[in-house]
Amino acid sequence: MTAGGEKTSSGAARRGLMFVLSSPSGAGKSTLAGMLIKKMAGLRMSVSVTTRAKRPGEVDGQHYHFIDKAKFDEMAKADELLEHAPVFDNFYGTPRQPVEAALAAGQDVLFDIDWQGTQQLREKARADVVSVFILPPSAADLEKRLHTRAQDSDAVIRSRMDRASHELSHWAEYDYVVTNYDLTTAFAEVETILKAERLKRERQTGLSAFVRDLQNQLGG
Ligand code: ADP
Ligand code: 5GP
Repeated sequence: MTAGGEKTSSGAARRGLMFVLSSPSGAGKSTLAGMLIKKMAGLRMSVSVTTRAKRPGEVDGQHYHFIDKAKFDEMAKADELLEHAPVFDNFYGTPRQPVEAALAAGQDVLFDIDWQGTQQLREKARADVVSVFILPPSAADLEKRLHTRAQDSDAVIRSRMDRASHELSHWAEYDYVVTNYDLTTAFAEVETILKAERLKRERQTGLSAFVRDLQNQLGG
């Protein structure tokens, strides 16, 4: 998708990208996403709609837009969702308008979505999607993290552990894979990926004008 405002080090205009983090539940993608949003300028979080119940501490409109199934169906039917999918007995989707507005303003957009949503984004905008799969260091760590997050019941945690192997099976569809042993290291890796992808030649849409100007200055 074409974008206008955001600039690179050359000062040239840049095309916004869609930066996707996926993982089995509990591997750390929301934590990494929060760190990225805090640190990186020019990056906006896509806030999904979901039919699942709000967890303690979650804020409507910030972590998710919590809606009922009737509203979800209405949005899907009206083509207001860029992608949507059933995950763990609930429905999740990405509102289209804020993503398109951010990209049009030259911002990058960060998505915390599953493999089904990533496939749909890729089908719609392959060149603009950069996808990262986050692996947990071990099954024991994954389970421990789901418990330390302390926001889901034991039954919900069990069902997420049961689904983890299936989630993992999609790792090879992603552009990058980061193992989240240590949060600082994993964050540095994800940040590096975003920084490098921003510098891809084809995303620096204003580069030819910038180079032409350099050549003029050089008298070439
Ligand atoms: P996800 O969004 O993938 O479901 P979260 O980001 O909610 O996972 O992380 C699950 C839990 O694991 C949280 O309590 C988080 O603080 C913790 N966590 C994340 N990364 C690490 C890490 N590298 N080491 C230990 N705990 C972590
Ligand atoms: P949670 O209920 O733990 O917040 O999220 C469960 C799963 O749903 C996670 O894998 C998360 O990435 C995924 N998810 C969250 N929002 C969306 C969305 O808008 N679309 C899709 N396809 N998956 C989502």
